[in-house]
Order: sequence, then C-alpha cells, then structure tokens
Amino acid sequence: MVFAVWAARPGCLEPAHLDALRGAKTVGARHIEEYARQHAARLGAAALPESHYARYLRQTIRYGLDAYEREGMVEYLSRARALLGRDHDDEVAHVHFADAGYAPLRPGATAATPRSVAQILERARAGERISLREGLLLYDEAELLELGAVADARRAALHPEGVVTYIVDRNVNYTNVCTARCKFCNFYTPPSGKDGYVLSREVLAEKFRETEALGGVQILLQGGLNPELGLAWYEDLFRWTKANFSLRLHALSPTEVIHLANLEDLSVREVLIRLRAAGMDSLPGGGAELLHDEIRNRISPFKNTTDEWLEVMRQAHMLGMKTTCTMVFGFQETGDHVLTHLDRLRGLQDESLARDNGGCFTAFITWPFQADGTRLKLRDDTSAWRYLRLQALSRLYLDNIPNIQVSWPTLGPEIGEVGLRFGANDFGSVMIEENVVSQAGAHFMLTADQIEHHIRQAGFRPARRNMQYELLTRPGAQA
Ligand code: SF4
Repeated sequence: MVFAVWAARPGCLEPAHLDALRGAKTVGARHIEEYARQHAARLGAAALPESHYARYLRQTIRYGLDAYEREGMVEYLSRARALLGRDHDDEVAHVHFADAGYAPLRPGATAATPRSVAQILERARAGERISLREGLLLYDEAELLELGAVADARRAALHPEGVVTYIVDRNVNYTNVCTARCKFCNFYTPPSGKDGYVLSREVLAEKFRETEALGGVQILLQGGLNPELGLAWYEDLFRWTKANFSLRLHALSPTEVIHLANLEDLSVREVLIRLRAAGMDSLPGGGAELLHDEIRNRISPFKNTTDEWLEVMRQAHMLGMKTTCTMVFGFQETGDHVLTHLDRLRGLQDESLARDNGGCFTAFITWPFQADGTRLKLRDDTSAWRYLRLQALSRLYLDNIPNIQVSWPTLGPEIGEVGLRFGANDFGSVMIEENVVSQAGAHFMLTADQIEHHIRQAGFRPARRNMQYELLTRPGAQA
C-alpha cells in the first residue's frame, strides 16, 4: 500500500523540479531524529520516548517507490480505472515514475491471474521480459536445476559463440580509512585508527608496473571514504596514472563519488565530469550491496541510500560512461528485497539504453556476504546453492544487461565453473590482488592459466577482454 505520493500531470515538471523534490526528500531523511524530538515535545507528558517516533519514521515508513510499491500502485490505479468505467482497449494510459520509467495501466484490470512457474520459465526462455511478480514466484518456487537450465539457455542465446571471457586487472585499495563504518565490512579503519593507510605513489607505481608486466589492462581502484583525500588528490592520481602507464582506470564506486561530492560541496555530476577529465574510464558498481533501504539501514546506516547510489549511476550513464552493477546477498533479505534490487537495476538500464549515448551497465555480478571478523552477526543462507539460484534468476530478470560474471573469489573456482552453466558468460578477473572479501574469509586466487583451465573444463573457449567486453585475444588461444 502506498499512502502518499508526489505526483504531477505530464509536462508540468522540469528536471530542476525533480532535483528539488529529490533534494527535499534527502534533507527530510537526514532530520528524522529532529522531527521525532519536535513531535515528542508537542505531545508533552503524553509522549512516548523520542526513539519510538524516530524508529517509526526510519524503519516502518519507506520513502521510495521501489519496484514492489510501483507494482502495487499500478495495480491499484488499473483497478480504480476499471471501476470508474474509464477502461477502453484503445485508450492506453501510463504512469511515469520519475526515476523508473513508464508503467502501463492494465485495461480491464482485475486481480491478475498468476502464471505457473513453468509458464514463466517458458516465457523467459523465449527471451520475454518477466514481471516483478513473476520474478518473485521464481524466487520462491522455481527448482534450482530448472532455473539454471533456462538461465543457461538465455546465456547461449545472448552469447552463442561458446566463448567465456575474463580480464587481467588488479584491484588496488588505495586507502582503508573510512568514515562509513558499514557493519558488514572488515576492511576499513576509522580516521582515528592506528592502522589506517594511504598508498604512496611509489607503492602504486610498483603495483601498476607489476600489473602491466603480467599483461594487465586495467586497475580497479577502490578505497574507503577518507576525509583527508579531496577531489584534487584523485585528479592528480588519475593524471599521473595516465601519464605513466597504459592502464585503464575502472575507478571508485558511487559511494566514493557521493562522499567526494559532499566533501567538496559539488554535485555528483560535477565530480564525475572532473574525474573523467582526469582519466577515469569507467565506474565499478561497488557499494550497492542490496538496493533496498530496509536492508541498507540495517547493515550500513551511514552509507548512501538506494536512490543516491542509482542517481550516481544515472549521472555516469548520462555522461556516456560505462559502469557495472553488483548485488551482495546474505543479509537476511527476502525475495521482495532481491527482486526490488534487480528491478531498480533493470529500470535504470532501460532508461540509459534509451538515451543511446553509450552510457550503461556492461555487466552484473552477485556474491555472498563474507562474515569473518565483521560486526554483523547475521546467519543467513550464503551457500553455493543460493548463489546459483540468485545468479540464474538475475540472468533471467536482467534481460537488458548483456554480461553476467561468476564470483569464484568467494565460492571457489569449481563453483565458478558450475556458474557458467547458470547464466554467466564471464569468469571475472585474475585478481592479482584483492583485500576486501579476502579479509572477511574468501581466499581463492587464480592465474590466467588456471582461469582458462576452468573455462575449458566447463566446455567453453576462453578469451581475454577489457571492461567494454571487447575481446583482446583470439577465443581458445592459450594464455
Ligand atoms: S564497505 Fe566501503 S564504505 Fe563501508 S566501511 Fe567498508 S570501506 Fe567504508
């Protein structure tokens, strides 16, 4: 049930109005404790503790129209329209959700007839788009092997050459100092901590040289939200990298971009334009975890919201930049949370592809939360079984994202091989270095030879690629 919306007739709202409304929502969300205090003060002796009102505002009410809410609204409006007799087959009506595209109202809407799992899988196999409700049914009821077989059929339809790609790059974590204190993170040190580091140019140069010597084509550069590093530090670093190395920079994450925008009092767009001018080639999809604020409030309350993460990606795509997207599971999420995450990504990709300027998601990757040493005391299913289910479901739901990567660093290369038969067409990276999931319990490392071995074992021809998924080697040629 959606209780309140900001709505306007088509054509009334300019982009500036939308920005103002988004800004008002962000400001409101930041002042929840203050509103709770004011409300308790107004009620005086009759008031409950302030924390009660704050909890209600923060946890009971949601402030976004996520996929589930949008589906509910469309259903409600379709039925209301039918009841009012405004329902003619030749009259097409749409609701336009500002951040998520158009949804048609259904003529003659009554309670929609649920399709069976088999029917939905048949449609997905034929390449038809599945709805949120259908995705939820698959999440709840589809058998693992059926889901995998249909995801494999979709993979084969999208990538019929029998080639599985991988990239040689290096994950460099330039600083571990971070103010966000995410409960699931075992990598960061607070600014006051003794173990904080920022990698020097000498250390970076050594890592970059080593990467080039190993045939690496890219640096995946990510770090914490370090309040000591301003935008100029990144611009210098990117310019220096481009001047001295022939490596592409797949750099930062929406979370780091938002941090820089806040630090410098600039818009996200301005930060992206400056970073790109300094040498940033593409933006990785880190910091998404689960794009649902119920989960985010639980696991990373000081980090960006779902809408903020998506807005950075939207702005990057508007600038023509290529990005990737991710999903981490194992936070006691429900099917609603997972499908909302996938639906928000699919909606944004639709929007970006319609712009046709080259800016879009190139790939999606999902992996299970690694709990070792983190403050998050959750017990959830992070098994290979669930990973394979979620990856296969993602292949079917994300019909507009061309590539799916397996996550062998968290589950091992053998599961990676199996993952290639559950919708994936890419074996990720050789991971010359990785510091984040490895600190929380994932310790798998592979050479290019080993990656190619696993790809062949699964029945495919290996080929190296870059971030744009252009092939750099002849498929099947030995590494
Ligand atoms: S996940 Fe990223 S943003 Fe969160 S604490 Fe760790 S380094 Fe900081």
